[in-house]
Order: sequence, then C-alpha cells, then structure tokens
Amino acid sequence: MIPTPILRGLRLSLAGLAVAGLTTATGCGDDANSDAKDARSTVVVTTPILGSLVEQLVGADAEVQVLIPNGADPHDFSPSARDIAALGNATLIVSNGLDLEEGMVEAIENAEGDGVAVFHAADHVTVREIDEEGGHDEHADEHADDGHEHHHEGGDPHIWTDPLTMREMVPALTTALERATGVQLDATSTALTKELTALDGEVRSILADLPAGGCRLVTGHDSLGYFAERYGCEIVGTVIPGLSSTAEESAKDLASLQDAIAEAQVTTVFTEVGTPKKVAEQVATETGARLVELPSHGLATGGDYRAFITELATRIHDGLSR
Ligand SMILES: [Zn+2]
Repeated sequence: MIPTPILRGLRLSLAGLAVAGLTTATGCGDDANSDAKDARSTVVVTTPILGSLVEQLVGADAEVQVLIPNGADPHDFSPSARDIAALGNATLIVSNGLDLEEGMVEAIENAEGDGVAVFHAADHVTVREIDEEGGHDEHADEHADDGHEHHHEGGDPHIWTDPLTMREMVPALTTALERATGVQLDATSTALTKELTALDGEVRSILADLPAGGCRLVTGHDSLGYFAERYGCEIVGTVIPGLSSTAEESAKDLASLQDAIAEAQVTTVFTEVGTPKKVAEQVATETGARLVELPSHGLATGGDYRAFITELATRIHDGLSR
C-alpha cells in the first residue's frame, strides 16, 4: 500500500509535467488542449466507491463529482435535474454499469447520445453471471442496438466487493481518464493496482481465523457474490431474492430462507442499505439469528475504498465470530 501523501506527491509532479508539456506545445495548433490550462476536466462518477478510485487516479488533475451520496441506495437513486445537467456537461462519466444505477441509466444514455464519453466499470471486469429464478429473460436483447454489447442481463453489478475484480478495470479506467484529462496517469495507476492487490491480502488476513467452511452468509439482497467467490464464502440466502434491493420478496421466499438458515446453522443475518427492516426482523425472530448491518454499498464519511473493503471484511468476520 502506498500512503496517500506519496500518491498526492506523484500526482502533483505529474500535474507539473502536464503543464510543462502544454507550454511547450503552444503554437502547434492543437485546439483540443488550448483550454486545459484554464479549466480542468469534469469527471462525473455515479457511486462514492468508484469516486474514491477515480480520485486516487486523477487527484487534482480533474474535478471529480460524485452523484450518489454516501449512505444512499444506488439501486434506488433518482437523479435530480442538477445531476442530469452534470451528466450532460461532463468530460467523462464513470458508472458502475450492469444497471446498478437503475434510476440513472436513461440520463447516462442521453448524455452519451449527446457525445459525452462514458466508462462502465463492469464492461472491464469478469462478470459474475446469475441465472435468476430459472433464468430465461426476454429482455436480453434490449440493449443490443445501443453499441454496448457488454451489458449482461443477470450480470451481478456488485463488482466492488472484491478488490481483485476492481483491479481488472484499472488499466481501462486509466486510459479513459487520461483521454478525458490529457494527463499521464501511469504512476497513480500502478500505485492503485498495487494497493488493490495488497487489499486482497488484507481481506484474507481479516478472515483468516474463521474456521474452514465458516463463512456462510445471509445478506439483505444478493450483493456479496464476488466477495464470496473470492474468499471462499457460501451465500446461504438473501432476505430479498435478487441482485437489487428493489426486488420483492414473497412469503414462499422467506419460508425457504428460514429453512436454509436453520439447515446451515447460520446465526447472523447481514442487513444492508435497502433491506426492509420489518422483513429482516421477522427472519431474525423466527430463526433466532442476530441482525448485523453491513456497509456494502457506500463509503463511510471521509473514508476511501481501502477503508470500505477492510470495514466490510471486518464486519463480516466479527458478525460470523460472535
Ligand atoms: Zn446491491
């Protein structure tokens, strides 16, 4: 892990190089760069977690604007008129993709139609495919004609719960940000890649003393699939069946969840943003499980991605250990 002050120093020296480069380029007739000294590019990012990684890459070389506030549910976020204007005026939009930002898909597509560059993080990682409820989906070709052949119906959008999945998209995100800012980001890109690799090790050490087969998870919705696959956990069930907190549970779903909890001898149910409190409490009452809140979709105030993923792993570890 490279400490933040060092990253900041790298960025500052890169910014200095970029300014020097522009100065020597003056008079070459390159209009595209002529405004770069006066106005930084604006990178508009949907989620706080992606915003943290974008900030680590670009530092002060771009204005980074995050639309979804910490603590808000990205599955259930509607953009304001101001947010829609920000998307339209961005130099680059960075979104998670796979319809995580259900309420913003249209505004992002409109901005893209108007010529704004858009980076979907999930287009650049190995996507966990889910065969939900038997899996056939007549809407599978819905996006086939909009140029995004990487949209997966049933693809799990929760890519940020695994640092090594996030690491996969760093090179492509770096390229997109370099294009948007005109600044070389090699140094911060390498540093971020190293940090994500180190974070994988940190998560492993946090979970290390759980007994073999002891990481059995019940969560608010199906949000920890990447984490579970990476760290050898089993998803026993979810309070809401589905990849989004906006899915609806049925009495039958809850009955089979309670059976699964009893069978797997699970004693902790992790709730998340968007988990209906009454339903979670009912599951807890009927199974004797404890409820533990999991900060799985956003950053703590003032926190970064590193703080997010270590906190996530620690809450899971402690929730399963008590
Ligand atoms: Zn979710």
